[in-house]
Formats: sequence, C-alpha cells, structure tokens
Amino acid sequence: MEKYGAPLRLIIPGRVFRYEATDASHDTTFYQVEGLLIEENASLSHLKGVMAEFLTRLFGKPVKVRFRPGYFPFVEPGLELDFSCLLCEEKGCRVCKNTGWIEFMGAGMVHENVLKAGGIDPQKYQGWAFGFGLTRLVMMRYGITDIRLLTNGDLRFVKQF
Ligand SMILES: [Zn+2]
Repeated sequence: MEKYGAPLRLIIPGRVFRYEATDASHDTTFYQVEGLLIEENASLSHLKGVMAEFLTRLFGKPVKVRFRPGYFPFVEPGLELDFSCLLCEEKGCRVCKNTGWIEFMGAGMVHENVLKAGGIDPQKYQGWAFGFGLTRLVMMRYGITDIRLLTNGDLRFVKQF
C-alpha cells in the first residue's frame, strides 16, 4: 500500500509453517495465497462472487460458498469463507468433518486503520483481503482424503501423479 497506493490488486503465494495438531485436514506445513484488493466501492459481495467464480472454474462444476463470522486483526468485519465439499457432494465425510463444507479461507474488509497506515484514504477507498491454503484445493481437485499424504514423502503416493 505504501509503495503503490490505491487502487491496488495483489496476490502473494508462499509456504507457511505453523504449530498445529495434525488431522486429515490440518498440517504443520502448507502453501498459502494471500490477496488484497483496494478500490472505490469494494465490497464483500464482490469478494464472494470472485471466490465462487474462481472455485467453479478451478473445479469445472458449480461450487457453493458461504461466509461465517471470523476474527482477524487487520479486517473489520472479519469472516471465514467455506465452500461446498466436492469429495462427498455435501453428504459429509472425514475431510469436511461431516458438515458438507470445507473451511477455505479467512477474509474481511481491510480495517480503516490499516488503510490509513498504508497512506490510503479510507473515505475514498475500501478493500478486502483474504488468505487461503492451496493444499486444500489440491485435495479437492485430486480427491485426496488426508492432507498429511502431501508431505509425508511416501513415493507410492507421489508417483500416482
Ligand atoms: Zn465432505
């Protein structure tokens, strides 16, 4: 924000490490993509539409998305976006913890103090930001039912691709 000002659209991929109890859908290492859009009249409906379109194009079939309230310190409101589980067609499975939905990403409207700190006038510009794991997308795309298979180094798994 300080360097480029507004309007601004950016996307940042990178590897993430975190302290985490592992299970079928959580691991200590994953790849994440962060995105930020700052424009006049940016809104959450815009973000929801972008994500529904992105996921539908990625998977080649209609994907539903939903927002849930969430807390992240640099956005207000903060939210989490889930998408419909493609492994079980929303019937419930181990990956979606029998909910039919996959936790996909944290997101929200950029807090006005963040815009101010970046030198952007919050009266003129709004923005949304998100961060999602590429790993879960790979799982859905290829029908992988345990995230830990991606990092455990088992060549029988890797050689399938
Ligand atoms: Zn499922």
